[in-house]
Amino acid sequence: MKDGRASAVVGHKMAMQTASLDQQSGSRDRLSPFQSAAVIAALVFAAALFGILTRPVGFLAAVWPANAVLLGMFVRRPDLQIGPGYVGATAAFLATDLLTGGTILNTVLLTTANMVGVVTGHALFLRLPGAHRRLQQPHSVLYLFVISTLAAAMAGFVGMIANQVMFDKGAVAGWAFWFATELVNYLIILPIILSAPALSKIDFVAVLRGNRHQDTLRQRLTFFLPALGLAFSALLALIVGGPGAVAFPIPALLWCALSYPPWVTSILTLFYSLWILLLISSEHEIPLVNAHSQSTVLSIRLGVALVATGPLMVASVMAARNDLVRRLKRLAAHDPLTGVLNRRAFQETAGETLSEQANQGSPVTVMMLDIDRFKNINDTYGHATGDLVLTVFANIVRTSLRDDDVIGRLGGEEFGVLLPYCTKTDGRNIAERIRKMVAATAITIPNGGDLSATVSIGISSSEGSLSDLNLLLSRADAALYSAKRAGRNRVE
Ligand code: GH3
Ligand code: MG
Ligand code: MG
Repeated sequence: MKDGRASAVVGHKMAMQTASLDQQSGSRDRLSPFQSAAVIAALVFAAALFGILTRPVGFLAAVWPANAVLLGMFVRRPDLQIGPGYVGATAAFLATDLLTGGTILNTVLLTTANMVGVVTGHALFLRLPGAHRRLQQPHSVLYLFVISTLAAAMAGFVGMIANQVMFDKGAVAGWAFWFATELVNYLIILPIILSAPALSKIDFVAVLRGNRHQDTLRQRLTFFLPALGLAFSALLALIVGGPGAVAFPIPALLWCALSYPPWVTSILTLFYSLWILLLISSEHEIPLVNAHSQSTVLSIRLGVALVATGPLMVASVMAARNDLVRRLKRLAAHDPLTGVLNRRAFQETAGETLSEQANQGSPVTVMMLDIDRFKNINDTYGHATGDLVLTVFANIVRTSLRDDDVIGRLGGEEFGVLLPYCTKTDGRNIAERIRKMVAATAITIPNGGDLSATVSIGISSSEGSLSDLNLLLSRADAALYSAKRAGRNRVE
């Protein structure tokens, strides 16, 4: 955008400006130190309690979500104050362990190990760009993997001491056990927290109403097929058994990754991991593995978490690809100067809307709008000011219309609009409103002073039988031509 144009756009509350402001104000107000500490302490307390209560006697917890939850919160919520957050987390770790009967020495050791891992992961995550932190890029899961590995390795050094004190394990075995357990927990829990949609972005009303209600039964079934495939293959793992069964659900998980966003895929991945962990630890008739030594169990846990990174990567690649396709589609369909549809996209969208309206027998109105003596504006004030007038004009038209209305730039300073469910009388009123508003708008130009423009509008309507867009447009064009001949700044 050329210098000056943005600041020159005054005189009217414009949709485009408000939209970009909304995006900027996305960064929330920071929580107070007390709020930060309290939120973190409550979450860590709940997660640690869950870990301790599911901890088999004599072993450390197999599922220990507290560290991943804590790290995930710090990465996802920049509105938390970090210092107080860490104080809250430490207090919660100490409190849960002491309340559930840990000795002071053990509690301090375990808490230190937890915190060392989280601090390492946090420091590394802060160096990643935002899109990676949300697992939206092809390499995101790779970064997640590297960070989780380093965080788990660091926690392992403190854990090694804890293992020696608490379970009398050798240094290497102690470190490996701690490292593997931490890594598994980070890998299966962090993706869910990192890729979760922001609560404010979820349309709860639409979810409750069932926002897929327009889909046919067939579409709904197709939507759930990958998840059903996963459930089926998980069952197959139970029935067939043997070590290979660990990988049975992988094709279905990959299918899920192709079909669902990273968040849903990461939840399904967690289900998969928990299911396999359950199958290994339970004594069902056809065991997945015969050896019930701790190292075998640990090896399978680790293997499951590593195998599950494959589908997660696919989901991230798909998210990046879908985002790219969305952006390209937008670029291909919109006029870069005014942001309304370009000629081709207008023809396509308006054509579809028109045939829907014709099928329903609803009235439709089409408008052709052309700025008056636009060549003079260009000649007098320069091309840049001409562009500014086009932008302001398009914004006036856009803000005067409903969401379902279709607006396109058909050529230089000529715009087309299709108004569904709109009779000729309504269309005329809308056109008059736009005409008056354009004439009344003072456009501030870059080197000082105001200018105003006028528009001529031709309209044509169909009471519900016509589905030929070109016919309606050419009628509106003829009306526009009469408006120009009758002196401009008119609706015909
Ligand atoms: P009328 O009242 O009869 O519509 O007169 P007019 O001058 O508006 O009509 P005409 O179609 O002769 O002129 C349109 C001008 O629009 C000519 C062209 O240089 C200018 N134009 C087309 N596209 C752009 C654009 O993207 N930016 C600017 N600044 N000018 C453009
Ligand atoms: Mg013109
Ligand atoms: Mg023209």
